[in-house]
Amino acid sequence: MDFTIPENTQSMMRAIRDFIQHEVYPLEREFLNTSFRDMLPLLVEKREKAKAMGLWAPHLPAELGGQGLSLLEFAHVSEELGRSPLGHYVCNCQAPDVGNMEILMLHGTDEQKERYLAPLIAGEMRSCFSMTEPGYPGSNPTWMGATAVKDGNDYVINGEKWFTTAADGAAFTIVMAITNPEADRYLQASMVIVPAGSPGFKLVRNTSVMGETGSDYASHAEVTFDNCRVPQSNLLGPEGAGFVIAQERLGPGRIHHCMRWIGICERAFDLMCGWAATRQVAPGRTLGSRQIARTWIAESRAEINAARLMVLQAAWKIDQAGSSAARNEISLIKFYVAGVLQRVLDRAIQAHGGMGVTDNLPLAYWYRFERAARIYDGTDEVHKLAVARRILRGYGDT
Ligand SMILES: Cc1cc2nc3c(=O)[nH]c(=O)nc-3n(C[C@H](O)[C@H](O)[C@H](O)COP(=O)(O)OP(=O)(O)OC[C@H]3O[C@@H](n4cnc5c(N)ncnc54)[C@H](O)[C@@H]3O)c2cc1C
Repeated sequence: MDFTIPENTQSMMRAIRDFIQHEVYPLEREFLNTSFRDMLPLLVEKREKAKAMGLWAPHLPAELGGQGLSLLEFAHVSEELGRSPLGHYVCNCQAPDVGNMEILMLHGTDEQKERYLAPLIAGEMRSCFSMTEPGYPGSNPTWMGATAVKDGNDYVINGEKWFTTAADGAAFTIVMAITNPEADRYLQASMVIVPAGSPGFKLVRNTSVMGETGSDYASHAEVTFDNCRVPQSNLLGPEGAGFVIAQERLGPGRIHHCMRWIGICERAFDLMCGWAATRQVAPGRTLGSRQIARTWIAESRAEINAARLMVLQAAWKIDQAGSSAARNEISLIKFYVAGVLQRVLDRAIQAHGGMGVTDNLPLAYWYRFERAARIYDGTDEVHKLAVARRILRGYGDT
């Protein structure tokens, strides 16, 4: 494969790096020490700037108001945005909206596109995705308790979900529920759009995660559907295709996450090197913190470079042959890059000493919240076992 970055992507990457450094880094101190909701007016301002600069929704086709990048090109851009915890949000390509935009674009009816996709793209509303349930292992998403039963022209939905990221303030959720219990287990569930005000839909609470309850976009909610009624026209895609659509959503979604994590690694690396190069060492010490940090710097550089090449190769394969052909590559990057992220963050924190665990820098924030990188969108173990199973099939294992 050719790793040359097209000139138009390079120029967008430069523009984004400049925008993030000058417009977004200055917001971080406030972001790390206040609630997301309180920051919304400032973020709206930055979003308008991003739009005016042609940095809005880089993952979407130009005719829909995006920048028309391929997955491989967006991977590069996502790395630049990932250097700040606010980068993807200010350019309207943050999870879970980015995945919801993609499935609405591919499977939405004209009415659904007008009512849900267009305002999402414009940044006028946010959305969320409700699949995981407290009573069932999310690692096996085909197994769930939520049901959507037809009644007249409606679906009546019952069930409990948790870890519905960004439900607080979202205009709608896309819920996965069983519609065809007799079908093959991969064809039992459907995706249904549930507007936030629907009768029977309730946000029970924002769950405290790593000591923070969060608010608005930066939150993870428990939600319930208690005889929640929505019109059957809210079905997204064919009935029974929920799992297949979710898989489609997760392939490119893992590239987005991995490149965002590499952006985080690069920022942590910059901070670690800046600190290691300039921090005073006590006179007379032969092995001060600056020397020790050198091994962390070399190890981190090697791991980040390797991780980036793996992700770009996976993105290239998805662009060439589709998500299904790239299943192994997607699983490999999902657990490998999540591990690199954690090791690099840990070293950067250690290099900074006490400063590393304060919220003066984004390192501690990422250390808390990106621990979940090894859990969401498929746990490490599930990806490792899936890859090994497919590899061993080639050696005759049944
Ligand atoms: C921060 C965060 C945000 C999230 N956002 C969303 C969201 O927006 N929407 C949503 O629907 N969900 C979301 N999730 C949920 C996420 O997808 C699940 O947590 C994930 O799929 C794991 O499921 P679980 O938590 O039920 O763990 P389990 O599936 O119970 O797994 C527990 C442990 O058992 C292991 N295990 C389970 N099954 C196997 C197996 N077959 N083989 C080997 N090991 C196994 C796992 O690897 C893990 O170590 C989010 C989670 C987090 C932490």
